[in-house]
Amino acid sequence: MWPLDPPAVTADDCYTACAGSIRDKSAKNGQPARAYRTLLATAAAGISAASQRFEAAACEGSLPGLMAEDFKVTGFDDAEAYTVIYGQGMVQNRAGRDIYDMLMAAPAYRRCPFCGHGIVRQLDHYLPKASYPALCVTPLNLIPVCKDCNEIKKSFVATSIESLLIHPYYDRIDDVRWLNARVQHATEPTLEFFVEPPGTWDQIITERVEHHFERFELGRVFGTQANRLVSDILYGVKNLLWAAGSDAVHAYLLGEAETRFESRINGWEGVTFAALAGDDWFCEGGFTRI
Ligand SMILES: [Zn+2]
Repeated sequence: MWPLDPPAVTADDCYTACAGSIRDKSAKNGQPARAYRTLLATAAAGISAASQRFEAAACEGSLPGLMAEDFKVTGFDDAEAYTVIYGQGMVQNRAGRDIYDMLMAAPAYRRCPFCGHGIVRQLDHYLPKASYPALCVTPLNLIPVCKDCNEIKKSFVATSIESLLIHPYYDRIDDVRWLNARVQHATEPTLEFFVEPPGTWDQIITERVEHHFERFELGRVFGTQANRLVSDILYGVKNLLWAAGSDAVHAYLLGEAETRFESRINGWEGVTFAALAGDDWFCEGGFTRI
């Protein structure tokens, strides 16, 4: 949902790095020998073609049309393919691990691009490796995410264009404000977050963002953080109100919002302050009279 620059490494270079140091497997404990070096070399062309199909479909917005059966790895069953190529080649081997670490380090401040809040801890396969093993080390299919988002997403695959999750490398939706919140009037004021589609969005991107927002429970995530923030500033807001009046409270909240919007236009922090600043009931201390 929050954009990332696409990885600099190509799919072919990444596969070469991951496959390069995998050794053949000897027969052991009743398991047959596996000539991985030959098998991986034979599979290379198919994996390269699969990555190209993925990248073309992602650019066109046609990822839901990709069939899992077209993304198998020749010579491997699915679990063996991603266990060897991704598990051994990327997570455990040095050359692949360098790329893994580079992908993980991409988000500024380790902020998860799916929720814009959690700390990056894992690589998510946008199209899951269990059913699309040919994409298990395609860099544009690998997204650094927080643990919560990875657990919520699991092996989700969109079946329609409207349910396609926002892809941080391809979708650029942060040039306009789309996140908003309203203040719930109570002695402990709380905020309710929602997607407010800008006029420039068409129906498809609107439905995609709303679906992404709901799937990752972003209303709950942002609301919880915002309510803590409101609780933290309430004492100071009351003092400012009594000392200088509601206009001063409004100006303070607006200034805080502007500072945060400067770094992130759709961050929950800026939206929180803007919602409070725009709510006359809050600025006039309505929460002290309930
Ligand atoms: Zn997240």
